[in-house]
Amino acid sequence: MPDDACNSAASGETYDAVVIGAGPSGSLAALLLARAGHRVMQVERQRFPRAKVCGCCLNQRAQQLLDRAGLLQGLRSLRACPTDRLRLHSSGRRLSISMPGGLAISRRAMDQWLAETAAAAGVQFVDECTAEVLPEECDSNAATQHQFPAVRRIRIESSTGSRVISAKVVLVCDGLGHPSVAGLPGFQSAPRADARIGLGAVLTTAESANWLASGDILMAAATGGYCGAVRTEDGSVNLAAAVDPAAIQSAGGPRQCLQQIFRESGVQVPQELETVSLRGTVPLTRRSLRITGPRLLLLGDAAGYVEPFTGEGMAWGLTAATLAAPLASSGIRAGWTTALQRQYERQLRTAVVSEQTVCRTLSWILSRPRVLQLTVAAAALLPAVAGMLVRRVNRIPISLESRR
Ligand SMILES: Cc1cc2nc3c(=O)[nH]c(=O)nc-3n(C[C@H](O)[C@H](O)[C@H](O)COP(=O)(O)OP(=O)(O)OC[C@H]3O[C@@H](n4cnc5c(N)ncnc54)[C@H](O)[C@@H]3O)c2cc1C
Repeated sequence: MPDDACNSAASGETYDAVVIGAGPSGSLAALLLARAGHRVMQVERQRFPRAKVCGCCLNQRAQQLLDRAGLLQGLRSLRACPTDRLRLHSSGRRLSISMPGGLAISRRAMDQWLAETAAAAGVQFVDECTAEVLPEECDSNAATQHQFPAVRRIRIESSTGSRVISAKVVLVCDGLGHPSVAGLPGFQSAPRADARIGLGAVLTTAESANWLASGDILMAAATGGYCGAVRTEDGSVNLAAAVDPAAIQSAGGPRQCLQQIFRESGVQVPQELETVSLRGTVPLTRRSLRITGPRLLLLGDAAGYVEPFTGEGMAWGLTAATLAAPLASSGIRAGWTTALQRQYERQLRTAVVSEQTVCRTLSWILSRPRVLQLTVAAAALLPAVAGMLVRRVNRIPISLESRR
């Protein structure tokens, strides 16, 4: 054991749970564990509040899960914008799909509010600190119950130095590629060879606001990728795109690539796109080989990523938090077991992974212009089928319904 770990044990920095990351999955899980009476620390790498590349659409499933946790009223008080229609543009064709009951809110506002709500429930929140879960001998072995370490050690680095804390359970909610456990055996997360990357921007001029009707989710799909746009609580327009790295290169840069997507799909290019600052992500679509380990559960994007269509990503993260919190709580109280890990894997598979099939299919269609044109034409003829798909990704999975 390194010296600093000994110091940590000596200084008594042992928590029931350490939650890594303050996106929706991390903050909901931290909040639920604090409400269950546990001593929780939440560690976030960035300085809060922070922006994030995201379409900012909360679907009905996400809202229902927040409602179950008593959080929906609070979210509404942030003046999240209601959305009710998806307008898909591709090669000059348009398709309008009714999607009532959505909400759009900037991730800056939502994630800050969720983290503050968790802190008010007793979670000790630290931002501007990077967490890394330290390896244990049992990570490489198929551990039986008595082989689990009593606690898991986590190194936390900030601008003022580094320290090691311990926890009975670590919830890894650190997003794409789960960097905090990437060094542990079996936890590597390689992106798919054809993975797109995310791009995001916030348009703030009055001209940009007029470009998009309130309540609409605009989706422009073209050869190099697709870009969604929605108005959020302060009237600004949030852009979020998934684009092929090759399309960025051939367009001459990310900005030009977004402009090309709008032009090709038949949407007027917003002028502000010339000057606005853009954010990017690492490659998106990836699978996590392991989503559990000794005293470890992975949640949200950390557990794997499928390109969301409109509003599924956060719903999946909130679903994972709803499933993981009671299992983590039982691991803290009664001791960790491999059965707990298997139970979480099974539940997550049933509630999330099988639901992702619809989005995988939509993402496949969106990346093939010919197929997309046919789909747009077919969906215009068969709006009931399009509506059915939307309802499917919006519903609360039966496995969660039965826990009410
Ligand atoms: C282009 C695009 C559009 C999208 N549109 C939508 C949409 O409209 N609706 C929707 O629901 N979803 C959408 N998503 C998906 C959504 O953004 C994610 O699914 C969601 O943010 C996952 O939440 P999370 O809590 O798992 O992780 P995140 O929200 O990614 O949060 C992870 C946090 O962990 C922190 N972190 C990372 N490493 C460390 C570390 N080592 N130590 C401490 N902290 C760390 C990060 O700073 C971050 O704050 C979109 C994604 C993309 C890329």
